Amino acid sequence: MALRGKESFIYDESKERMPKEEREKWLDQRLADIVEYAYKNVPPVKDKFDKAGVPPSEIHSIQDLEKVPVTTKDELVRLQRANPPFGGFLTVPINKLSRVYISPGPIYDVGELDRSSAFARHFKAAGFAEPGDIVINTGSYHMVPFGLLITDALDLLGVTVIPAGVGQTELQVQIMHDLKVTGYFGFPSFLMSIIKKAEEMGYNFRRDFSLRWALGTGERHIQMLRGIFEKDYGIEISQMYGTADVGMLAYECTEKNGMHYNDEDAIIEIVNPDTGKQCSPLEEGEVVVTLLNKIYPLIRFATGDLSSYTHEPCPCGRTTPRLTAITGMIGDHVRAKGMFIHARELDEAMSTFAEVSKYQMVLSLSGHKDTIGLKLEAKQSVDQQTLSNTIRKRCKEVFRLTVDDINFVPEGTLPEPHKKFVDERWK
Ligand SMILES: [Zn+2]
Repeated sequence: MALRGKESFIYDESKERMPKEEREKWLDQRLADIVEYAYKNVPPVKDKFDKAGVPPSEIHSIQDLEKVPVTTKDELVRLQRANPPFGGFLTVPINKLSRVYISPGPIYDVGELDRSSAFARHFKAAGFAEPGDIVINTGSYHMVPFGLLITDALDLLGVTVIPAGVGQTELQVQIMHDLKVTGYFGFPSFLMSIIKKAEEMGYNFRRDFSLRWALGTGERHIQMLRGIFEKDYGIEISQMYGTADVGMLAYECTEKNGMHYNDEDAIIEIVNPDTGKQCSPLEEGEVVVTLLNKIYPLIRFATGDLSSYTHEPCPCGRTTPRLTAITGMIGDHVRAKGMFIHARELDEAMSTFAEVSKYQMVLSLSGHKDTIGLKLEAKQSVDQQTLSNTIRKRCKEVFRLTVDDINFVPEGTLPEPHKKFVDERWK
């Protein structure tokens, strides 16, 4: 309750509607400042610039950023391991942070109130979370930022939050019914599971529940689900894009025609992953982020997510570019059930099973839900049931997700070399 309706949160729409030229100047100036600051205060940033032979004084505009090599997620992890917890990127003592989140890896993520403000701006832009709303938050409160960060944002907006967390679908149905919940935050697919469960329990969701809106992230089939939510259940859906490393990066306005850049907090580039050069509008590339944040100034952090952008004016009047959609991922990781799984985590989980010679993770959709499968080649003598149970337990320990299906395939089925991940969800 400490943050509720906190006066320091000001929703300044004029910034979002700044004329394009003024916006570019404003961003270029802030970029030059943060680059200079980071070069002086963040050793790995200095290293990056020095190795590339680029003095920070050469960065005057977003275009100039092309001269600086990106920092990948794997690099960030390596730097964190070598110099925990933040790899030298944190410019204040750790006890000055309001939160430290931990993503699987472990990767340490900076938590602070500025990040909540960005989410609060999205709720406002979507027309959600008015005082009087009762919002159920089904984000995880366990180590990762999802649950608490959004609760902080909702607190700023003065709404009532139910910190429900993940799982327990039947209980969620009960809570949403009894407390007349009006807003939902979490994965759209989980909301669909809640609605289906309510129907199984004999409710008519439209008649018996008060849910008017849902804000979600982390799932690429949101567009498919959106139509069902809106048409069948009268629930407005809005989506955003962000990562645990850098916070919220882009969000939909009420027009729902792409996600406006959150350039109050970050410079976003869409970059050709092979050349490091910036892409043209609608050309697919990697989302690369420079945080305009003196506490944690990441410069050109490559998220591993693929997208494209448009400059076309939006009828809402905001002048920021928009991400069209998140269209895929690069690198050795996938996102399933809202969490990342890295190849190195899969390797780590499987490294304890000498009897398994090859493994491959297969991601598919079952209805609206992600399904995680494992294809395994193992010695014929193994007890498949016992081994499956142990592998499930181990995977849960390492990357915190349940493996739904384990299939033993004859030796030689998986080619050499074979892909660690096969994603069949977007075919
Ligand atoms: Zn708009």
